[in-house]
Amino acid sequence: ARVENPYVGATPYVNEDWSARAAAEPGGSAVANEPSFVWMDRIAAIEGTSISRGLRAHLDAALAQGANMFQVVIYDLPGRDCAALASNGELQIADLQRYKTEYIDEIAGILDDAAYANLRIAALIEPDSLPNMVTNAGSQAGSTQACRDVKASGVYEKGVGYALNKLGDIPNVYNYIDAGHHGWLGWDTNLDPSVDEFKVAATSEGATVNDVTGFIVNTANYSALHEPYFKVTDTVANNPVRSSTWIDWNQYIDELSFAQALRDRLVSRGGFPSGIGMLIDTARNGWGGPDRPTGPGPTTSVNAYVDGSRIDPRYHAGNWCNQVGAGIGERPQAAPEPGIDAYVWAKPPGESDGNSQPEDNDEGKGFDQMCDPTYPGNDRNGHNPTGAMPNAPLAGHWFSAQFQMLLANAYPPL
Ligand code: BGC
Repeated sequence: ARVENPYVGATPYVNEDWSARAAAEPGGSAVANEPSFVWMDRIAAIEGTSISRGLRAHLDAALAQGANMFQVVIYDLPGRDCAALASNGELQIADLQRYKTEYIDEIAGILDDAAYANLRIAALIEPDSLPNMVTNAGSQAGSTQACRDVKASGVYEKGVGYALNKLGDIPNVYNYIDAGHHGWLGWDTNLDPSVDEFKVAATSEGATVNDVTGFIVNTANYSALHEPYFKVTDTVANNPVRSSTWIDWNQYIDELSFAQALRDRLVSRGGFPSGIGMLIDTARNGWGGPDRPTGPGPTTSVNAYVDGSRIDPRYHAGNWCNQVGAGIGERPQAAPEPGIDAYVWAKPPGESDGNSQPEDNDEGKGFDQMCDPTYPGNDRNGHNPTGAMPNAPLAGHWFSAQFQMLLANAYPPL
């Protein structure tokens, strides 16, 4: 039987491929022994690629380490990453059958091996997919034809449902569905539709809500865990800070409050089990360094107050690619707050979010201008600068300059 929170009492696997790259960097040994997720980002990743060993080899390394937990990202949906280009995948909408048989069934067959029965396996199900069905697949600004096509086909719900059902049949697998982040789904107009979308997916293709252990927020993103110097309910001269440019009427200003509220809504509205728990990716949302505020901003206007208070200094909360100034966040830890199963490192620090210039490749990855530091933005980031670092390699490839920056700006400090 599954335990209530698989992270309690767990020793998660330290990804040895990532660890070696981290340890080879100056100062990298400070974090090289931290656990992070292993990404199965294409069918070939199951057997292993030029930059990563295969799934079995990782699982065997986990056993050799004496770990009792393994964290894996399931990330190969047909029509993947429909509102961005940097991580477009190998499968098209018509490839649902290949997703099932060549990807999910293969992974499930390995995870189900009796040799791994004593590992608690946390499976992060398909980053960014269902949130895109909520905000980018209709007629609202920022929507894309690719997302509308995916939505019309139902392929994300079917793929996620199939994965949940198949992996949920393995008694030691714990499924966590990706739920975007507060700067994406935190508006009232998005929150309940998200819950409804998750429910549809979790009851597709034979899956039930009981196949779901919980949800993860902030995967591979930069939203602050906790904004210490202002509250969403604050006012300045009787003006609510929610009217500021940065908050833009969102109901949340950070990931902890968002994750806890979403958890409650998933139970009360979505009918998910009352024991579900949340994960928060804290790999790169530390925002330390010399420019971090040390107290509230001036109360001269809502914008001055919010901009002077916030530790997340991005141009816009919709910016997601290789953010300048970011730092490593909270180290992975179990049960840090009510409703939170763990702080985890889903995105391994130092792995690029996307190439900053067009680049030929055989990984299905496109060039997304949100990774270009000179691009002036689009509807999804309020036409702000991207804040992306220059000279970035393809998504998932090692980005030494980013890793160095993340170490330098870690918060809590290393
Ligand atoms: C990339 C994957 C990579 C993952 C972790 C994603 O953005 O598309 O190829 O494995 O990040 O770095």
